[in-house]
Amino acid sequence: MRWKTANYAGWGRALRATGQLARPERLSTLTALMADEPAPAIGNCRSYGDACLNHGRQAVQMLRMDRIAAFDPTTGIATVEAGVQLGELARVFAPRGWLPAVMPGTGFATVGGAIAHDVHGKNHHVAGSFGQHVRAITLIGIDGTSRRITPDDPLFAATVGGLGQTGIIASAELQLLKCKGDVIVVTERRIAGWDDFLAHFDASDASYSVGWIDATAQGDSLGRGILEEAETGSGLVTQKGGAKAVPFDAPGFALSPAVVRLFNAAYFRRVPDKGRTVVKPIQDFFFPLDRIRDWNRLYGKEGFHQFQCVVPVAQAPALRAMLGRIAKSGLASPLAVLKRMGPGRAGLMSFPMEGYTLAIDFPNRAKATRLIGELEADTLAAGGRIYLAKDSLAKGSSLRAMYPEHATWAAAANAADPDGVLATDLIRRLDLRTI
Ligand SMILES: Cc1cc2nc3c(=O)[nH]c(=O)nc-3n(C[C@H](O)[C@H](O)[C@H](O)COP(=O)(O)OP(=O)(O)OC[C@H]3O[C@@H](n4cnc5c(N)ncnc54)[C@H](O)[C@@H]3O)c2cc1C
Repeated sequence: MRWKTANYAGWGRALRATGQLARPERLSTLTALMADEPAPAIGNCRSYGDACLNHGRQAVQMLRMDRIAAFDPTTGIATVEAGVQLGELARVFAPRGWLPAVMPGTGFATVGGAIAHDVHGKNHHVAGSFGQHVRAITLIGIDGTSRRITPDDPLFAATVGGLGQTGIIASAELQLLKCKGDVIVVTERRIAGWDDFLAHFDASDASYSVGWIDATAQGDSLGRGILEEAETGSGLVTQKGGAKAVPFDAPGFALSPAVVRLFNAAYFRRVPDKGRTVVKPIQDFFFPLDRIRDWNRLYGKEGFHQFQCVVPVAQAPALRAMLGRIAKSGLASPLAVLKRMGPGRAGLMSFPMEGYTLAIDFPNRAKATRLIGELEADTLAAGGRIYLAKDSLAKGSSLRAMYPEHATWAAAANAADPDGVLATDLIRRLDLRTI
């Protein structure tokens, strides 16, 4: 297996790495490589920060192990290699009446990356997290041995949401979810403010729901936005967006406060006062940003950070106060998403908890770094947690307090990998393998 030196980055482009990457195509190559020179796996680097980076060291990029090995159309169980991308699974299976049970906001995430962060989707309130639909994992240990683990094995809960620290996921058996076809019927409505948003989320019985928030709005309009509720369907689409690309690193003013305010006001009004229902191809709803190739270049060469936290239901006022702080700062980008989460999680280090989650992008500037630090403290005080798939700035002490099962997880990871050869930049920055 050849190692090649590469420069690569997290999706936010604020954190980067130079290191050697191997790209195995077959299980036999992967097991030989692990027996010889074990290293952590990376997927498609759709994590925003440093979860997918191993600066100055080696990493195994799994994108070439992307086969769908088996599918049972009566049960909806698919056996897939870890490098297959979720958007590809949706494309292949939706016309046959099945979808990955949980899909994050990008179809470019791999199955391995989705397991390692136990990702959530727009249906978390009803379907739970990705790992709850994984029936078995084939895990390659640091000595190259292969092991099939199922949810009743303690290593399963350390591997799901386990940041790649227990071994390399080579393949997984996924329970897909029945769907009505490859289109989605989306009802969009304007929401006047924060309380209205929470009331709509709590009353919604839609299978999928997600809120876009105008994070520049203040006063009575604080928390205004658009709620989308959706169900899968079949038939003709009424709305289709074309593919676009960002051809170069955008200049600094592209996302200045004035531009963002104008954009957000127009985006809010894009939905008529009375709301509307549209029928879209499923990927336009599940992966809206994937249509804009390289959209992460919009923030210029310095890149950006995403802050995502979840707080318990009773702490919704604390989240409202955080949004107020963000709006006042003038640093918000147009990308701000609010979701209702259910309790579902499958791993010791899984992010979800029953409550509300807010995700928002900020340009990589000193002022934003300070603001994100304040939001981290607010999250901790509210009994919430920060999402490691998005983080690039948090402190290890906060993370330990936010993830009460951290010590159990670290013990399992250290047992699987005593010398820490699977550690990544994120693990070192937050010192997550120390108990
Ligand atoms: C536009 C956008 C929207 C997003 N929306 C959501 C969302 O709605 N919900 C959500 O939960 N997340 C969301 N994410 C985050 C994304 O789903 C996760 O970061 C996911 O892990 C990315 O998968 P990847 O294949 O790119 O993994 P990478 O980013 O390359 O790696 C992530 C982690 O997985 C580990 N890993 C990867 N492959 C393997 C493997 N085969 N074996 C063991 N460990 C492995 C790596 O070591 C690393 O720790 C979004 C990201 C983007 C860019």
